[in-house]
Amino acid sequence: MIPFNINTDWSKINISIIGGGISGLSAAKLAKYVGANVFISESQEEPLYVKEIKKYPNEIGCHSNKIYDSDFIIISPGVPITNPIVSACRKKNINIYSEIEFASWFTSSMIIALTGSNGKTTTANLLHAMCLCDDKNSLLGGNVGIPFSDNVLLELKMNIKSPIHVLEISSFQLEHIESFSPNVAGLLNISLDHLDRYNNIEDYANEKLKIAKNIKKKNSIIFNADDEILLNVFKNNQYATSFSSKKHSKSYFRLDTDSIYSLNGTLKLLELNETKLKGRHNLQNILAAATMAHHSNISDTSIRNAIINFSPIPHRIEWVGEIKGIEFFNDSKATNLAATEAAILSFKKNIILILGGRDKCNSDFSILKSVITKRVKFIISYGEDGGKIMRQLSKSINVKYIKKFKDAVLHAYKIAVNNDKILLSPGCSSYDQFLNFESRGHNFKNIIKEIELDY
Ligand code: ADP
Repeated sequence: MIPFNINTDWSKINISIIGGGISGLSAAKLAKYVGANVFISESQEEPLYVKEIKKYPNEIGCHSNKIYDSDFIIISPGVPITNPIVSACRKKNINIYSEIEFASWFTSSMIIALTGSNGKTTTANLLHAMCLCDDKNSLLGGNVGIPFSDNVLLELKMNIKSPIHVLEISSFQLEHIESFSPNVAGLLNISLDHLDRYNNIEDYANEKLKIAKNIKKKNSIIFNADDEILLNVFKNNQYATSFSSKKHSKSYFRLDTDSIYSLNGTLKLLELNETKLKGRHNLQNILAAATMAHHSNISDTSIRNAIINFSPIPHRIEWVGEIKGIEFFNDSKATNLAATEAAILSFKKNIILILGGRDKCNSDFSILKSVITKRVKFIISYGEDGGKIMRQLSKSINVKYIKKFKDAVLHAYKIAVNNDKILLSPGCSSYDQFLNFESRGHNFKNIIKEIELDY
């Protein structure tokens, strides 16, 4: 049992916040608003948000023993559980919570939360759109870049009546939850990712499954029955309902040849050519969002309207342009092999694939062999792990390794002909040459603009 809630006398509570990034600062704002005493500890010498950090008692450039002078700690999702702070807190009996857990103590409104290895941002945005179409006060937050604490603070300050909190949650944000219990919890898929942080896929999956750990009566778990791990975990769970992109599934929303049906397969919800989302993986995202919305009492009409008006989010198989009959797609957000595989499967043929960057998972790129046959004509590998990619794939397909990202993109264009699709779906993180996946995606788009100007 968590001993804290909105009625706690917060003026007597000291909170240390580890990490003065977006979520730490948002938790600090919420904590200050309820009257708690906040101390921010930031290990970077020159943090990005130094001005904001300095609005609170703080230390910058280290984590000193001052952090233990607190009733509990809110830890940034960037700090792994292997960090010595975590074991030191355990020894001293100081509880550690995530920002998501902390914010949840201050709202009794409906929470619809989802997690998964891939598809979270797309599905959470689509779900939010469904809620808005249904005239709900939907607040989208979590891993999408707007911390849950910001939205809870907004709810408290503006006295928003019956909002719905739609949350995208990463495994890192689930590491320190205790009582967090969404009304509807969605699990999209579990595939190899973040082995730079977890020992193995079991440890990683266990963190993801925590989203459903406090689900009780009246709440529901929505899971992807096409995912083996999730099916095994939830098939006999009394609170769990599945969705599936297999034809004639037993779900409320069902897929038949070219349409999705609702009401246990009896009413046509939409035809697949009515959505701008490409690929089978997006069909799963649509079914996940629709099933979660249905369990949150959103009408089928609002679900339909949101789907047909929804456009792909930037950096997710985003169509960038066409030059000389060559199309360019930016899938910079595909930072693991399951995501890249999904992107490749979204096209029938003529792909020139740009793969590379920093491999997070000690990946075996040769697992892509079966999906690249027929679809991919040529691979350009780039960056820190581009050489390894070439070694693992060159027996199956033509691969050229070009270290610098820009040179790799220009080479892809040089070898492309009419009807080819140049797909940046790197299967690796961007951190070897870029600040983040967005900056890699923007860079890709800028290179294409330059090519267009020269043309
Ligand atoms: P996340 O927030 O989990 O990273 P996104 O919606 O941002 O998910 O999509 C990231 C990338 O993952 C996309 O660019 C696409 O290549 C791939 N992807 C999206 N949805 C799925 C899915 N359901 N299954 C597998 N891959 C997916």
